[in-house]
Amino acid sequence: MFYIGCHLSVTGGYAEMGRRALSIGATTFQFFTKNPRGRSSGSFPSSEDTAELIRILNDNGMHAPLAHAPYIYNPSSKDEKIREYTAEAMGEELRFLENIPGAMYNFHPGCHVGQGAGAGIKYISDMLSRIMWRGMTTKVLLETMAGKGTELGRNFEELAAIIDAVDGSVRDSVGVCLDTCHVHDGGYPIAEDPAGVLEEFDRVIGLDRLCAVHMNDSMNQVGAKKDRHARIGEGHIPVSAMEALINHPALRDVPFYLETPCDLDGYAGEIALLKSLRREA
Ligand code: FE
Ligand code: FE
Ligand code: ZN
Repeated sequence: MFYIGCHLSVTGGYAEMGRRALSIGATTFQFFTKNPRGRSSGSFPSSEDTAELIRILNDNGMHAPLAHAPYIYNPSSKDEKIREYTAEAMGEELRFLENIPGAMYNFHPGCHVGQGAGAGIKYISDMLSRIMWRGMTTKVLLETMAGKGTELGRNFEELAAIIDAVDGSVRDSVGVCLDTCHVHDGGYPIAEDPAGVLEEFDRVIGLDRLCAVHMNDSMNQVGAKKDRHARIGEGHIPVSAMEALINHPALRDVPFYLETPCDLDGYAGEIALLKSLRREA
């Protein structure tokens, strides 16, 4: 099964996201657990809504969704209050996600602003060790970042350092979500040599940790450290590179999520395009 979907609005509830995903030909989807830029603590869906979503996923052979943490969380902040708020909110979301079998949780490692990458990395791994628990079923994914400002996760080495420092009792539940626009903007030649970038990922982190891909084109040149997503085929990452990724032997069962500047019709078109490029194994 080719698991391909896009980011969807949570408006209308969880089951509604499942129906909307189906209506555009998606076999999975991503959503924000809360308003991405606001602190308002959105509410979790009712158990009926969650059960209905699970039924839709099962009936249609879909991959469970990828929940994306709000941008406002900053687990590597030097401000203890912000770190504490982030840990509490993420912990609550992880406990809720246990209700959706197979769901994954993606977050940005955050910005270390001033205190240095080493300190930021330690804050993140300490927080994960604290809010995760042995036996949890949700995979917690660190997203590869473009490296704007003091953003952590701008290279594979930083992500490997975070994972290595997480407590061994929960480390198996930590993975990575590779964002194609971000790694391109971060300086990796994913446009020219996608297989080579995956080899580098394997050497530094291990491909067994690669649990999801954010499939985005980039408006900027490789290494620009900008993070501006473009529609598929309209930026600096050729469709041939995306074709190589979706057909890579190590990524056959990994879900792909579009986060391009599209409305639902636009996403339907991009999903159809990527499906047409996927080959039988
Ligand atoms: Fe993200
Ligand atoms: Fe992303
Ligand atoms: Zn981005």
